Amino acid sequence: MSHNEDTYEVAIIGAGPIGLELAVCLRRTGVRYIHFDARQIGYTLTWWPRNTSFFSTTERLAIAGVPIPNNHQQRITGEEYLAYLRAVVEQFDLPLHTYEPVAEIAPAGEGFALTTRPLADERRYLARRVVLAIGDMEYPHRLNIPGEDLPHVSHYFRDPHDYFRRRLLIVGGKNSAAEAALRCWRAGAEVTISYRRPQFDAGRVKHWILPDLLAQIEAGTIRFLPATVPVEIAPGHVVLAPADGDGPLIRHETDFVLLNTGFRGDQRLLEMAGVELRGDNRAPAFDPATMETNVPGLFVAGTAAAGVQQRYRLFIENCHEHAGKIAQAITGRWPEALGNAAGRNYELPFEQIQAN
Ligand SMILES: Cc1cc2nc3c(=O)[nH]c(=O)nc-3n(C[C@H](O)[C@H](O)[C@H](O)COP(=O)(O)OP(=O)(O)OC[C@H]3O[C@@H](n4cnc5c(N)ncnc54)[C@H](O)[C@@H]3O)c2cc1C
Repeated sequence: MSHNEDTYEVAIIGAGPIGLELAVCLRRTGVRYIHFDARQIGYTLTWWPRNTSFFSTTERLAIAGVPIPNNHQQRITGEEYLAYLRAVVEQFDLPLHTYEPVAEIAPAGEGFALTTRPLADERRYLARRVVLAIGDMEYPHRLNIPGEDLPHVSHYFRDPHDYFRRRLLIVGGKNSAAEAALRCWRAGAEVTISYRRPQFDAGRVKHWILPDLLAQIEAGTIRFLPATVPVEIAPGHVVLAPADGDGPLIRHETDFVLLNTGFRGDQRLLEMAGVELRGDNRAPAFDPATMETNVPGLFVAGTAAAGVQQRYRLFIENCHEHAGKIAQAITGRWPEALGNAAGRNYELPFEQIQAN
């Protein structure tokens, strides 16, 4: 193990949009910090389906007051946003330790000791304060059914092209499933959707996507198997059961299976540090004025602050001010520029998150 015995003022863990926004705030005020990401910056966006547009409008995604240029005044894609994040890093020359996952956190002196595991190495760092900006999408929600790990089954939708002129069963009924179904059908796939509920819910599918999907189902171009759940996956077919358990099994022939069943964060660092995780959502306990958790000196930022949220209560656009609150707690001043969505008086639906 290599040791870095310097004590940093702050360690930021996670270089998604909000970790990077905080990094710019600290850089601007000259705070000595160190910043890690387990993979590359913006990693969560790198596995989005190719050419997926944000549902957030562009001005709400801008970080640290740096505008996002575009020539179409429409929503931008994940790829465009990654290019923007790279430009922000270049503009402020942000120091980054990418591909260096933080594996352990422990109290040390007046702060914390972090153990990182880049490739075959192990390193140790000291920091007075730690910010966990680790997101909430580390793992797919597994169904834990036989066949889930077969090669024609995936939790990640990569590209509609993969399914051209092939049969695809999509499992799920929220926005990502609906969007995947439409994109794959338009790319020439034969698409069926299995959803555990009897119908799609306007609260779970974007208002501009739902009518398109319902029109295709009505026209018979996309097939819908309502109130069904997969119970077994085999090469060439999936066995579906009625969601209420009442009725015969269905054998559905398919070439590929896309499990759009959502994602959840990895909370091991929070647990290790002794952060209280509350309710079904396992939301970390924190002071909404500063984002400091019940562990003094340990902060949460970005979507990680909502716990294992299922319905995206926190997005980029309502997390900008996490960077502001943490920067203020550390430097004593509100940063000179943040994302422009909410304004500094915006308050998180904190009690609601914690109550869930
Ligand atoms: C298809 C799709 C569409 C979406 N559309 C939108 C949208 O329109 N608007 C919106 O706001 N959000 C959208 N989201 C969600 C969006 O991805 C998140 O809101 C955003 O990424 C959260 O930013 P963050 O900085 O909080 O966390 P993340 O971007 O998730 O960043 C967390 C980072 O932490 C790193 N990390 C995790 N653990 C460790 C560790 N132990 N050590 C070091 N690094 C670690 C990860 O590698 C990652 O880079 C969408 C998501 C998907 C999948």
